[in-house]
Amino acid sequence: MAVANPLLRLFDYLPLDNTCTDTLQQGMRFMVPFGSRILPAYLISIESSSSVDPHKLKQIIEQTDLDTPTIDTEVLSLLIWCSQYYHHNLGQCIHNALPKNLRNGGANTLKEVQWSLSHKGLGLGPNSLNNAKKQAALVQHLREHGHLLDHQLKSFGFTRAIVNALLEKELIQRTEAKPSSHITAELNTDPLTLNTEQQTILDAITARSTFECHLIYGVTGSGKTEVYLQSIAYTLKQGKQALVLIPEIALSPQTLNRFVQRFNTKVICLHSKLSDGQRHTHWLQAKQGQAGIIIGTRSAVFTPFMELGIIIVDESHDSAYKQQSGFQYSAKDVAIRRAQQLDIPIVLGSATPSIESMHNAQTGRFTYHAMLSRANHAQPSSCSLIDMRNKPDYEGFSQTSLDALSQCVEQKQHAIVFINRRGFAPTLLCQSCHWNAQCINCDSRLTLHKRSNRLICHHCNHQTAPPNACPQCHATKLTPIGSGTQRSEDYLASAFKDTPVLRIDRDSTQNKDGLNTITQQLNNDQSAILIGTQMLAKGHHFPNVTLVVVLDSDSWLFSHDFRGQERMAQMITQVSGRAGRDEKLGRTLIQTQLPEHPFWGQLLADDYPALANNILDTRRATALPPFTHMALFRAEHKQLNRAIAFLQHCRDWLNQNAPNVQALGPYPSALTRKANSFRFQLQLTHTERRALHVAIQGLLTHLERTPFDKQVTRNIDVDPQDTL
Ligand code: ADP
Ligand code: ZN
Ligand code: ZN
Repeated sequence: MAVANPLLRLFDYLPLDNTCTDTLQQGMRFMVPFGSRILPAYLISIESSSSVDPHKLKQIIEQTDLDTPTIDTEVLSLLIWCSQYYHHNLGQCIHNALPKNLRNGGANTLKEVQWSLSHKGLGLGPNSLNNAKKQAALVQHLREHGHLLDHQLKSFGFTRAIVNALLEKELIQRTEAKPSSHITAELNTDPLTLNTEQQTILDAITARSTFECHLIYGVTGSGKTEVYLQSIAYTLKQGKQALVLIPEIALSPQTLNRFVQRFNTKVICLHSKLSDGQRHTHWLQAKQGQAGIIIGTRSAVFTPFMELGIIIVDESHDSAYKQQSGFQYSAKDVAIRRAQQLDIPIVLGSATPSIESMHNAQTGRFTYHAMLSRANHAQPSSCSLIDMRNKPDYEGFSQTSLDALSQCVEQKQHAIVFINRRGFAPTLLCQSCHWNAQCINCDSRLTLHKRSNRLICHHCNHQTAPPNACPQCHATKLTPIGSGTQRSEDYLASAFKDTPVLRIDRDSTQNKDGLNTITQQLNNDQSAILIGTQMLAKGHHFPNVTLVVVLDSDSWLFSHDFRGQERMAQMITQVSGRAGRDEKLGRTLIQTQLPEHPFWGQLLADDYPALANNILDTRRATALPPFTHMALFRAEHKQLNRAIAFLQHCRDWLNQNAPNVQALGPYPSALTRKANSFRFQLQLTHTERRALHVAIQGLLTHLERTPFDKQVTRNIDVDPQDTL
């Protein structure tokens, strides 16, 4: 049995006394005693013996699934793979994959109410309902067709009152049936005529119905979505379903509409903001084949299907595909695994594919397609740098940016001010010579901890006070970069008093209507300034935006996270893709202290693949992913020394038992103290994935057998998206 708890192993239970084990199937739900509690459990296998002492072996308390297993074999084998790959308890993986109602024992089959004639009704004489014509008509219909589904009553012109009257006379009866699957390839609106680029890609995707991972690098507006739509139409024609993964729920109304307008088959969405009942129903509609297309966020990758024929991962570079706590899976990687397991095609699309994906395309693991022209003939926006060196700034804004904003406001257009707040550890930079604070022990930058006013090395914990002058050129202007975004925001509101300044971030768009409310506030005849973080770069359509200002761009170049430059390239490319999408020409202004940094040349040349190649070269030279495999072991405790001691214990064990695994740390996480707990981490790398996994497995088994400070909260992050 898989039981949701922190341990990695499975648990043995005795069946109920009167159970015939032949009726038990893998994936069925049970309730079992666990310690002092009763928990849901999932059947993984039936064994004839157990290593547990027979006197200690406990019996199942309840069998929840009597005939059909809730988790089908295909999804279960995917979850077993996840449990092993992410080193996470299988019960918790299953829990994560199920809608709440199913975790709580809700029905695992969708039933439809249908009406048929009762025994009395069948024996009814021909003229007995002469005074009630409508009732007679329904009886006649049931006599001819056997039954009528409840939801079809209306379409045949029968009301609830007619049903009730016949029920009262005991002439009809109510039964429940499993609805039949209903996947149709019919279209509501005609597809667009594809351009040559699109047609070539569609042909490649539909050439085979076996596993192939297609990576589409397509600039914003190149018409990737149209390719998805037509690939799906092809899949539906074969009677198969489609799964479309999107990074954010905020995107789903926009995406959903395009799909609903095109297809006649049922299109449903699955994300965390649906009610429990809706999620439950949608999940079952996918499983039983009533829906042809399922559009969902991260966890939708675990949806069961009657017959899945294609998976699309839109904006596949997006870090929202990675779950950041608990069961830390990457929905994109799980989707690829699932496509492989089902032997079906998968399509990853992005204007800025991840560096790993570009590498996979180069090594032939993925089939690469490029879409370089804009399908709607929109003009690409222009991008330029603003040199911030030795110029006055107004709470982070250059005069040029402020002038551009004023102009935009005067013309009653919309502007985006983009700030970066995540994935970044602030550092000290000399404005004259670009010196930045380095650790004396390590090849790494020191992080500025403002509250304690210390420079700290995140690798070896070396600490020092920030210098008053640059040690290299003695200039006294040392700038902390990567802080102060709040001041910039306040300044904007006071400088543009008559213009609405709207904030777009995870908080303001998190609920279902968040983004809609903001879009409604955006009047196209009136100016507006949108301030936003990463959320802005996620494919929303703001038609009247003509200016994008990127503040504090250097914080990315100096990020401690090895993905800093990649993220930066993605954000700026995505965000400038937001400007000028509807005929109006857009421009992007990037403020920087380092205008001659080679990174900018490639970014401004609008050559993402070249930039990606450069980043790949650096990763190769420094042995970082994808040229090595990485996992982070994080630990957290209210007492700093206990978090550190725990990780040191782990590192010592690895040094002894898996000397080829490189273990860096323990070093403090970027947010070292959170909710009064201290957070530290150990970075593990190995050039061979398998060796790394064997070592982690060994370490975790060791920790289960000989526990070391059980109070320290720990978790393992395989293929981390964020190393801070
Ligand atoms: P992407 O998903 O790559 O950002 P979209 O699929 O949203 O691009 O396409 C951008 C715009 O171009 C949309 O308005 C879409 O309707 C239009 N478009 C896409 N393909 C075609 C085509 N083959 N012919 C005409 N217009 C197209
Ligand atoms: Zn200097
Ligand atoms: Zn150091």
